Amino acid sequence: MRVLGIETTCDESAASVVAWREDGRGDILSNEVMSQIADHAAFGGVVPEIAARAHVEVIDRLVERAVDKAGLSLEDVDGIAAAAGPGLVGGVMVGLTTAKALALALRKPLIAVNHLEGHALTARLTDGVAFPYLLLLVSGGHTQLIAVRGVGDYRRLGTTVDDAVGEAFDKTAKLLGLPYPGGPSVERAAETGDPARFALPRPMLGRAKPDFSLSGLKTAVRLEAERAAPLKPRDVSDLCASFQAAAVDVLIDRTRAALRLFRDVAGHPNAIVVAGGVASNLSIRSAFVRFAGESGIRLVLPPAILCTDNGAMIAWAGIERLQLGLVDDLTVPPRPRWPLDPTAERVGGGRA
Ligand code: ATP
Ligand code: MG
Ligand code: FE
Repeated sequence: MRVLGIETTCDESAASVVAWREDGRGDILSNEVMSQIADHAAFGGVVPEIAARAHVEVIDRLVERAVDKAGLSLEDVDGIAAAAGPGLVGGVMVGLTTAKALALALRKPLIAVNHLEGHALTARLTDGVAFPYLLLLVSGGHTQLIAVRGVGDYRRLGTTVDDAVGEAFDKTAKLLGLPYPGGPSVERAAETGDPARFALPRPMLGRAKPDFSLSGLKTAVRLEAERAAPLKPRDVSDLCASFQAAAVDVLIDRTRAALRLFRDVAGHPNAIVVAGGVASNLSIRSAFVRFAGESGIRLVLPPAILCTDNGAMIAWAGIERLQLGLVDDLTVPPRPRWPLDPTAERVGGGRA
């Protein structure tokens, strides 16, 4: 089985063809990503109208290239998947409408994928992890701990009550004058910094419920930055390293709390999976390697290129759904808000 996946929910336009393998994993036959970073950099963040137009300009070519590089023609795929949300509605409409047109013209099944389900199931594409597993989803719009029990079966154990961790990275970068996108900038600056120089808070540490609060951390960075002004490169590096160390401590502690709750809702977890754009951060990755080693639990960290937004994760979620007969008709609407666990109450900010 082969599925074309289209991703346009934020500032990456992406298209990919993934094939199902007998061992239950996926073969990525092509994975085309076009980032709009340059279009948004001058504004210090994603501008929705610019994003939607940029998706329109490239999506046809990207799809063509994905199919070409897979060595296929469009007739050869078994289904067309697109991320139908959550995200910026203008962008989502571009990808979803493209997928609908292709599905109609080619008479292929359409699969409307939740972008977060794409992040959530990537570990099955790469490593064939069996359900259930604990997912730490850390991205630009989300910071959640989720018991993944099956395709479409997610129980949220905890979430952020304010900023997402990716958002905290982005805002920290901005206030320190580092270039957009903030996550990679902060990581780079932190490499040469002293993580112990600034004593930043670790909000929610030790609480039983695995929730997060990250806006205070960003505010603490701002106060320290004001106190240390005018900032020299050394100060910026130390602030970034201190911020990153605090973020790491919080993510590990909250994941430990979620593991304690996991059993009650889903039994024994087969793995801890860290996914979403922030999971490409190397110091977060190595902290989780240590933590998993100590707890004797399998850890799955998809490669960085599959942590940030991409089409392969959408194609793979499409394969999982198509195998279960979970297809959509052409009336399926874009869903700017679309929580993975619809039973969980809405808390604080975030996009879902
Ligand atoms: P969502 O998936 O919640 O809808 P999104 O799709 O915009 O949001 P992703 O593309 O999955 O989010 O991740 C982007 C986020 O990841 C940004 O906030 C970015 O700063 C952050 N990020 C990317 N690379 C790194 C890194 N190396 N270290 C820390 N954060 C990073
Ligand atoms: Mg993005
Ligand atoms: Fe994402």
